[in-house]
Amino acid sequence: MRKIFISIFLFFIFITTAGAQDFNNYFTDKACRVDFLFCGNKNNTSAFLDKIKEEPYWGGRRSHLSSDLNLGEYRFRVTDSISGNLIYTDGFSTLYFEWQTSDEAKHLQKSFEQSIQFPYPKKPVVVSIEKRRGFTTWEPLLQFNLNPSDKLIRRYNPPTVPVKEIYKTALPERAIDIAVIAEGYTAKEQKKFYKDALKLAESLLSHEPFKSYKSRINVYAIAAVSENSGISMPHKDEWKNTAVGSHFYTFYEPRYLTSQNVFAIRDYASLVPYDAIYILANTATYGGGGIYNFYALASADSNRAQKEVVVHEFGHSFAGLADEYFYDKPDVLDDMYDTKEEPWEPNITSLVHFEKKWKELIPEGTPTPTPVNEDTKKIPVGVFEGAGYMTKGMYRPAYDCRMRTNNAPAFCPVCEKAVEKMILFLTEE
Ligand SMILES: [Zn+2]
Repeated sequence: MRKIFISIFLFFIFITTAGAQDFNNYFTDKACRVDFLFCGNKNNTSAFLDKIKEEPYWGGRRSHLSSDLNLGEYRFRVTDSISGNLIYTDGFSTLYFEWQTSDEAKHLQKSFEQSIQFPYPKKPVVVSIEKRRGFTTWEPLLQFNLNPSDKLIRRYNPPTVPVKEIYKTALPERAIDIAVIAEGYTAKEQKKFYKDALKLAESLLSHEPFKSYKSRINVYAIAAVSENSGISMPHKDEWKNTAVGSHFYTFYEPRYLTSQNVFAIRDYASLVPYDAIYILANTATYGGGGIYNFYALASADSNRAQKEVVVHEFGHSFAGLADEYFYDKPDVLDDMYDTKEEPWEPNITSLVHFEKKWKELIPEGTPTPTPVNEDTKKIPVGVFEGAGYMTKGMYRPAYDCRMRTNNAPAFCPVCEKAVEKMILFLTEE
């Protein structure tokens, strides 16, 4: 018995150190950032390399380096040049992809900034960026060799703004590190920013499942300085000079608040080790946005469901959750998803590969799809039609959820499980 115990113990030691050994074989503690441009229109996409940077901190995972959770419209892969072994991979989505669904993309070619980050390699690697073709199929977009000693890799030149650790519980390698970046705060409004950043941290950390894992979460406040106070509102002819140039009225949607200055955002984030970026906008106007492994953005002073919006947008950017709402008018955005494909987001399904989603969580005897009535509204998990902006052909797990309305008390069990899975993926050794 004791022998078995010892071998089990040794087995666990082996398992827990294997990830760290792999990391140390291939990577340093710094980060490698690749800036590139997505260019195209509704039907075509190209990617062009802009520059490569060495940054001082790697805040991401040090285990599960060559696996991912199959999330995002895109993914990148880093392979060792000599052995050809996959040594790091990650998925991500983009504002560019959302723009491709707009009317403008039907008749215009545009470019969008994009960055990816991985631990700084010790030896030459090949980096490839791929675009999703289906639930498990990908097509190559851009591939290049990266020699870590290349003199043209930009060495660190950080923006000089103050940084505060506002919630620090764990070492960065064992934590979800969230970089909160000030947007629309002047030098005189720095105190307000720290107060607002603390409020944002409290909104997240008091909401499950973040609450249960708060000993694995660090939050940093990066006090980027803006020339003007507040946020640009193009639909009201108000443009401001702000740290990362964010604005409402993205794609002509009044409440859609985003920034296209991805390189500037990443420059500020590089002041800390980070897994996730949250841009905090100094405005009382309701709005926000969140894109998987890209960034989340929320208003600091909106008195309309501020806490709920903060969590909702982080649900998108951190765990790749889809919106579970849809529009009552049929035909409005009814072609957002191809219903012949299974979407990659963990909390919606077209039923094409429902077994890969939450089929196992549904109590026996629950009808598929689940009709909406007073009884089914209360069941924790079912398959309700209407999700991902579409009234037909796309299904959500529960009648209500943080990803559907601001009135929902919590994430539905499927979303909660997806967030928890991401926390464990990033923090477990
Ligand atoms: Zn949900």
